[in-house]
Amino acid sequence: MRQKMITLCPTTYELASNMDNFSAWIRQELMKKQATQYKAKPESEERYQAFCNPCDLSYLDTDPDMLKGLPCKECGKKTFYLGLIE
Ligand SMILES: [Zn+2]
Repeated sequence: MRQKMITLCPTTYELASNMDNFSAWIRQELMKKQATQYKAKPESEERYQAFCNPCDLSYLDTDPDMLKGLPCKECGKKTFYLGLIE
């Protein structure tokens, strides 16, 4: 284990002082953050789909908000949002 100095305000210092194992808690929180970041990356690779029935055309995007209410490029009608592609 290595040590790292952290700066606390009077309130957080009090909270930290009342914890049995502040260092363990910090490590746990940091690992949680890392886990969240790791998880967030593959999610951004996921693709969503919208579909135009009359034209039989699919539209794909990594951002679902880009597809909700997207007009079809062929007929100009609103496409049907299908959601996440498995
Ligand atoms: Zn269309």
